[in-house]
Amino acid sequence: MQLNYIGNENVASSSGRTLPVIDPSDGQPFDELQRSNAADIDAAVRAARHCFDTGWHKVSAAERGRLLYKLSQKIAEHVDELALIEQRDCGKPVKQARADALALVRYFEFYAGACDKLHGETIPYQDGYSVFTWREPHGVTGHIVPWNYPMQIFGRSVGGALAAGNVCVVKPSEDACLSLIRVAKLAAEVGFPPGALNIVTGFGHEVGDALARHPGVDHISFTGSPKVGTLIQQVAAERHCPVTLELGGKSPQIVFADADLGAAIPVLINAIVQNAGQTCSAGSRVLIDQAIYEPLLQRLGHAFEALRVGPAAMDLDVGPLIRQTQQQRVWDFLSDAHVAGIPMVAQGVVVDEAPEAGFYQAPTLLRDVPVDHRLAQEEVFGPVLAAMSFRDEDEAVALANATQFGLVAGIWTNDGGRQFRMAKRVRSGQVFINNYGAGGGVELPFGGVKSSGYGREKGFEALYGFTTLKTVAVKH
Ligand code: NAD
Repeated sequence: MQLNYIGNENVASSSGRTLPVIDPSDGQPFDELQRSNAADIDAAVRAARHCFDTGWHKVSAAERGRLLYKLSQKIAEHVDELALIEQRDCGKPVKQARADALALVRYFEFYAGACDKLHGETIPYQDGYSVFTWREPHGVTGHIVPWNYPMQIFGRSVGGALAAGNVCVVKPSEDACLSLIRVAKLAAEVGFPPGALNIVTGFGHEVGDALARHPGVDHISFTGSPKVGTLIQQVAAERHCPVTLELGGKSPQIVFADADLGAAIPVLINAIVQNAGQTCSAGSRVLIDQAIYEPLLQRLGHAFEALRVGPAAMDLDVGPLIRQTQQQRVWDFLSDAHVAGIPMVAQGVVVDEAPEAGFYQAPTLLRDVPVDHRLAQEEVFGPVLAAMSFRDEDEAVALANATQFGLVAGIWTNDGGRQFRMAKRVRSGQVFINNYGAGGGVELPFGGVKSSGYGREKGFEALYGFTTLKTVAVKH
């Protein structure tokens, strides 16, 4: 049985209710977590505020950095354990779960080093004044985390918030809590004081909503769907609480005829099958120069047919989806594609060992997807790649920008001028040229434009969002 972690203690919810934890690989429950309520959120916010007011704000930046570094080292000692937890909780193949745990180490390592490098400025002003700025923490920050990369998203948002001097209340997804509860306990072991890092589990519409509404929360970092992001923004607006929104995407990979296809193909595939396509930055649309449309589709089709899907522990190319409703969502998209007559080029294979009750979906490549079809517009959040062709740069840009989203774009060309022209014209928070994701480096600021959200996490840039600027003018 998993309990909330508030003030460095295991605490049962005052609701007395629990939720099952389901293994996506076989669809079976294997643990329980607290179905918390607004009173539990209130307890966590009070614990955090108490911590901030009674000592945390006096901890020097260098000392905070040492604590974060100790935590990164502690997590490093527990990488295998954390990977195993996430593998079972989220159905992640072993290599993905390990990569996520290692990224968590790196986030805390990076932000440990950043704590004492965040500073204000002096401003030249009129004679007789000294003017300068301080970067101050917001105070209590609320973090609402999705299920697709719990450790990575916790690392980038909580790591940045703690580094900037905040204390945190975290609401993980009801589908993926276990690794984060464990990390909070590791934080207590290395010396984070009670209340600095609190975890409250439960449903979004119950505890997530209570966290977003709580008047004691000074900033909200939300990562999740555009629909819930809108709700968070509305709730926060009522009390003018600042928010960072990291939302969805329908990211294009744009492949020109002069691209190195041998280098591009494995990356195009990985960008849509990594984490079974349940990735905000999934390259879910491939826009192909018409000169190479047929041959590239043929090569991609062969690569899709070679993909194997199965239980997380088998560590194949693709694991299960997170839950049955997500599987149903992907089926609905594919059935709409069928009705619309969108041709399927190829599918991967679900292995015989995959239990019937697990949430599996074979990766699927579709072609000639009309730009206004929902497969070209909406986030599937599954391993489904929509291919379409373009004639020239103008049409490639028009197609790339023809969705409500603007998270990531991949551009594949060896023409230097075109690389820059395209990077400028595509509307997205990140552009990757002849790669996709740049290895996910924690140093690289990340965020969206349009309905993909606003604010930036990751990198040093995130620290500005987790602080507020105070201008001080002294008259001599
Ligand atoms: P979701 O919006 O359903 O849930 C995200 C979190 O919000 C969960 O913890 C959930 O419990 C909580 N929540 C749900 N309803 C709420 C409410 N009314 N009030 C407050 N909190 C509420 O998203 P999901 O299905 O967990 O995750 C998938 C989505 O997340 C996709 O759209 C994906 O693109 C997005 N995502 C974005 C990024 C990014 O960096 N841009 C990263 C990962 C995932």
